[in-house]
Amino acid sequence: MNNTRALWLIAAIVIIGCIATACDDVTSPGKCTKHNFGAYSTTTEPGCTTEGEETAVCKNKGCTGADKRIITALGHNWGDWETIKEPTAAEEGEMSRSCKRCGESETIPMLTADTPTPGLEFTLIDGGTAYSVSKGTATNAIVVIPATHNGLPVTEIGEAVYNYSTEMFEGGFAEYAAMTSVTIPDSVTSIGDNAFNGCSGLTSVTIPDSVTSIGDLAFRNCSGLTSVTIPDSVTSIGDLAFGNCSGLTSATIPDRVTNIDDGAFYDCSGLTSVTIPNSVTSIGYEAFAYSTGLTSVTILAETPPTLARNVFNDTSSTLRIEVPAVSVNVYKEAEGWSEYAGRIFAIE
Ligand SMILES: [Zn+2]
Ligand SMILES: [Zn+2]
Repeated sequence: MNNTRALWLIAAIVIIGCIATACDDVTSPGKCTKHNFGAYSTTTEPGCTTEGEETAVCKNKGCTGADKRIITALGHNWGDWETIKEPTAAEEGEMSRSCKRCGESETIPMLTADTPTPGLEFTLIDGGTAYSVSKGTATNAIVVIPATHNGLPVTEIGEAVYNYSTEMFEGGFAEYAAMTSVTIPDSVTSIGDNAFNGCSGLTSVTIPDSVTSIGDLAFRNCSGLTSVTIPDSVTSIGDLAFGNCSGLTSATIPDRVTNIDDGAFYDCSGLTSVTIPNSVTSIGYEAFAYSTGLTSVTILAETPPTLARNVFNDTSSTLRIEVPAVSVNVYKEAEGWSEYAGRIFAIE
């Protein structure tokens, strides 16, 4: 037997002997040469931002050896963002969310509506106590008008005036075709004549409930506008205010409006139904004329409003004019209304 073979033999005897005599049966710590760890169990729960720990102990008899592993921090389980303070055009808002697990919260500024569009032009009005705003050199698609400028309130959207020699509007936001949305702050009380005339890219406008008057032709030819909610504060809707707004499918007229002026919804071919509130006492010339899709007009006043000529000219051939049941005959016989007698029905 050579030396190598002898060594192999000794090794084999040791290994076999070990298995036979349970060499993992150690009676003092440190004697365990190969730990046999069992399952890990959590010994320190992880938190949102703190690591946890799990431990496995050696199953070999008499061994106190253990292995520890880090459990990574869980991260916060954030709830939804909630608005704490609405942003205004002049001041940042705040939004906050909190962790459903540990309750930690975080607050961030709400920037959406608080950055005025650069380039806007402000003109002092009312004896230097307020500002009127117009497009100026602004080019942004999303236009945000601030509620204040140089510490004074912005109360007016400036009017635009048509220049017959250049054949273009000057002032206001007229023909600002790049504009897709405009935020009007609730400091604004009036929207000037032609203010947004020809803003064909405008799809969304929110008129705040501080506005009391919408000027003549204010939104004329805003063909991209699909719906408009006129707030309760508005008492007058100017001539052709929404004239030729072909994309407009719905319009809500608030119940403080007394006069729907001439051509207010003229040639709104997408408009299918409109409700005229109880407060309206007069409807102007061609107010809904050429709104070819208009099939339903609901009038809430029991006393027929004064009706100018051609109000419903070239609306849908199936136009139904619904009025309070008690007033059906009154409408059918009223001046102006009588020419639509065959289309007048009781509100269902
Ligand atoms: Zn061990
Ligand atoms: Zn947390």
